[in-house]
Amino acid sequence: MELPFAESWKIKMVEPLRKSTRAEREQWLKEAHYNVFQLKAEQVYIDLLTDSGTGAMSDRQWAEMMLGDESYAGASSFYKFQEVVRRITGFEYVIPTHQGRAAENVLFSFLVKPGHVIPGNVHFDTTKGHIESRKAHAIDVTIDEAKDTQLELPFKGNVGLAKLEKVLADNKGNVPFMVLTVTNNTVGGQPVSMQNIRETVELCHRYNVPVVMDSARFAENAYFIKTREKGYEDKTIKEIAREMFSYADAMTMSAKKDALVNMGGFIATRRADWFEGAKSFCIPFEGYLTYGGLNGRDLNAMAVGLDENTEFDMLETRIKQVAYLAQRLDEFGIPYQRPAGGHAIFVDASRVLTNVPKEEFPAQTLTCELYLEAGVRACEIGYILADRDPVTRENRFGGLDLLRMAIPRRVYTNNHMDVIAVALKNVFDRRESITHGVRIVWEAELMRHFTVKLDRIK
Ligand SMILES: *Cc1c(COP(=O)(O)O)cnc(C)c1O
Repeated sequence: MELPFAESWKIKMVEPLRKSTRAEREQWLKEAHYNVFQLKAEQVYIDLLTDSGTGAMSDRQWAEMMLGDESYAGASSFYKFQEVVRRITGFEYVIPTHQGRAAENVLFSFLVKPGHVIPGNVHFDTTKGHIESRKAHAIDVTIDEAKDTQLELPFKGNVGLAKLEKVLADNKGNVPFMVLTVTNNTVGGQPVSMQNIRETVELCHRYNVPVVMDSARFAENAYFIKTREKGYEDKTIKEIAREMFSYADAMTMSAKKDALVNMGGFIATRRADWFEGAKSFCIPFEGYLTYGGLNGRDLNAMAVGLDENTEFDMLETRIKQVAYLAQRLDEFGIPYQRPAGGHAIFVDASRVLTNVPKEEFPAQTLTCELYLEAGVRACEIGYILADRDPVTRENRFGGLDLLRMAIPRRVYTNNHMDVIAVALKNVFDRRESITHGVRIVWEAELMRHFTVKLDRIK
């Protein structure tokens, strides 16, 4: 008999979880204005709000924390970190930042001017925020198939080359760079194939447009290339990652994802001019160039995390857990973005809460229902997150309305996945009776989902 699959690590330290009653959760959610970002973590049983900064570090990472060099300038921790980034990405110039959006802020402060057009395969919300707050335009060029949640495609995060070419041709001289996000978070943690990466970059370079890889989940993307794309079966994750980066001009990184740390990020590039330009924004925003808003110990942990998470066994454990949750949802017939992505399951709320009109935010409503059912905190990646159109100020209902259950790395067991699946099934079973959603009481102009105040429509 073939041995079953099991995790590539064992557990050395544990953290107790707290359960609650439905009555408590009803009170807490009301106090949180039906926005799960406003809940206290101790009011949550299983926390799937994000996979960002919520992973468990390894014993090797914790050991490196003790070796952190806290010198202001030229710390050995920086050089340790720089060596790993150079080796894994092939990029020469490295600037640490305190997280991914800080990397965007530093690089975009140098590159983005009002009126610029920046195409991308769904800009992440902070990426879009950093573009639109500079009065530039983020244009989505993801393949149309990504919007059909029930279509099974191996690389559903791909760039639509014809769409991209149209943007490049219509805006000659006005596109400072293109953002290529791997994996494509917003459409469900869906990967981009090596072929599509190559063709996207070739097309951009033909129009003299450089490519910035938004690389938060580059290792998960490399895993999918290895397991799904012909010609890559026998390559290591590190070889595949190195090839992915070899096409790009620069990367921004949220190390809170695939570098397995709780806080951290960086910019890396092969362009000396971009390095020089970004440097002058790093110092006022993030601090001196060899620490960029981070402790020496954090740089050490990030160096080890990058190395660890570009090994096949680590990624296989993670992605198989996400696939396990998907398989449980399949048993119950719950529709999600297919196939299962790298870091999360995105439930198609508009297919579940069919009696809740889009103006009442079905995915946000489902998020509330799942929390009330079992204390499971997921989040909305849908119409609230999409913000309003900066010109017309209308809600943007053109994209998908999803409930995202993001799985923290190395934190929960498959028993927790079973609890999540059954909680969602219980909501799913009474979906016909959920006929009202939520209304916005107060919202911020940009990135409103973090602080929005809602009311339940009775
Ligand atoms: C998380 C994320 C970011 C922003 O990174 P933070 O570390 O949260 O600031 C940017 N792009 C993508 C694709 C992300 O997933």
